[in-house]
Amino acid sequence: MAIEITLLGTGTSAGVPMIGCDCPVCTSSDPRDRRDRPGAMIRYADSRGEQRTYLIDTTPDLRRQMIRHAVMRIDGVIYTHNHADHIFGIDDLRRFNAVMGRPIDVYAEPRVIEYLQATFRYIFDSADNINPSFVANLIAHPIGEGEPFELGGTAWQPLRLMHGRLPIFGYRIGGIAYCTDCSGIPPQTWPLLENLDVLVIDGLRYTHHPTHMSVDQALEVIEQVRPRRAYLTHIAHDIKHADLEPKLPEHVFLAYDGLTLQSDE
Ligand SMILES: [Zn+2]
Ligand SMILES: [Zn+2]
Ligand SMILES: [Zn+2]
Repeated sequence: MAIEITLLGTGTSAGVPMIGCDCPVCTSSDPRDRRDRPGAMIRYADSRGEQRTYLIDTTPDLRRQMIRHAVMRIDGVIYTHNHADHIFGIDDLRRFNAVMGRPIDVYAEPRVIEYLQATFRYIFDSADNINPSFVANLIAHPIGEGEPFELGGTAWQPLRLMHGRLPIFGYRIGGIAYCTDCSGIPPQTWPLLENLDVLVIDGLRYTHHPTHMSVDQALEVIEQVRPRRAYLTHIAHDIKHADLEPKLPEHVFLAYDGLTLQSDE
């Protein structure tokens, strides 16, 4: 069964172009240098052949991303961590509640759920709102490391990643792994990255960063994991697409917004 990933946004937290920057990348006319905040959409058919659509993270650019891809349903949202660039589009999920006429299941580790519930209290404690208001209807489900969970008949494997000192999750779905926002991969995660068709991995910029992988660090991981294809994401304005991509190994690419990839399975 083919699993498809669409990279909705491939930029770092500030997006590219950044507010107030006139560097060559922020002013580039190459559409691949325009990078929304980072998130992904996973699609596959369930056991009855019905197409399922899942979001990994809800970025501040979610509305535009959903319109761009004409998305009509969301069967679940799976969060990597609670940084602003990954969660601040949560409010736009309410449109899918309205279109589908049902709540949306949200999956994250318990501390991320707690953070979401505190940050978006008006959504999760909507009975406390002074006026009745049009808020998202979300059902939170805690997930844990070493505990694959099933969505629409397909297993999702949480992948522990280190984002600086913050433990976060990447996810493996079939032959595809999505590993945004990481600076390190702990020992227990390496075996889970074997035999991948597609590895999407943090490749922020050329120089070292305390909480993200540089391009060289990402290439080292790719060298060890040996996926059939690898794509760098969470890209800052230091990287001009047309400059870097020709210098990458043959099976390694820079991701860009809207790119859709399929597992070979
Ligand atoms: Zn991020
Ligand atoms: Zn710039
Ligand atoms: Zn982050």
